[in-house]
Amino acid sequence: MLRVEGLTKRYKAGDHALKGVSFTVEPGQVVGLIGPSGAGKSTLIRCVNRLVDPTAGKVFLNDAEITSGAGDLRRVRRRIGMIFQEYALVERLTVMENVLSGRLGYVSFWRSFFRRFPAGDIEQAFRLLDRVGLTEHADKRADALSGGQRQRVGIARALEQNPELLLIDEPTASLDPKTSRQIMRLIVEICRESNLPAIINIHDVALAQMFVDRIIGLRAGEVVFDDVPSRLDNAA
Ligand code: ADP
Ligand code: ADP
Repeated sequence: MLRVEGLTKRYKAGDHALKGVSFTVEPGQVVGLIGPSGAGKSTLIRCVNRLVDPTAGKVFLNDAEITSGAGDLRRVRRRIGMIFQEYALVERLTVMENVLSGRLGYVSFWRSFFRRFPAGDIEQAFRLLDRVGLTEHADKRADALSGGQRQRVGIARALEQNPELLLIDEPTASLDPKTSRQIMRLIVEICRESNLPAIINIHDVALAQMFVDRIIGLRAGEVVFDDVPSRLDNAA
């Protein structure tokens, strides 16, 4: 479970980007984060992932505080799986190696130094590749894949590190509508079956409404909506 308490961020050069944001995300629950540009969505994601330090407030992951000062940064990051808009794959590595990098960090180091990867990690990577439908592409280089396939690699890589939370930034912004729906469906199914909480920063409100369990709307650093997607139409 993720718990965000009174999260406040004021950047040096400006106004408050977040003003006391609080919410919890239950295991298996997928939250869509929406709001106009400048609302504070990225700042919220960055505070949870410790890319920026909040001015005030706390973040707890499964009851352990992960806000700055509490816990080693690398260990906190290992507990959070990230999925990105532009996939952030290593183009010249294979699908399998990209997935393994979720656990091993520098896979080219492992490959050249130990000449093989830990068997248990490979097994898990194969399981995940199967789950995202990429088994037969395991040995292809990332740069030979379509956008949708790349994002499936991104999902498998995030899961390979056995995260306790997924933070997902505009996962479908570079994909066509049909592929976007497939990717959203896959993410939501995986979160439910693995009991993973997730926050998806998502621009496409209609797409969010179709798939997520709950929508949090931010505006000027404040939560202005927090409910099931079906209630959004009345609120907007
Ligand atoms: P969103 O992701 O919803 O577009 P952001 O979190 O990027 O919103 O931005 C929230 C507010 O914080 C905006 O007013 C933005 O200009 C400001 N902001 C974001 N990043 C910085 C930064 N590094 N320095 C100063 N102000 C920032
Ligand atoms: P528009 O610019 O079309 O007039 P708004 O400025 O109201 O619409 O909304 C812009 C963004 O605000 C949308 O892209 C969406 O992400 C978000 N949004 C829409 N409805 C809500 C809502 N009820 N609560 C919070 N955010 C919303």
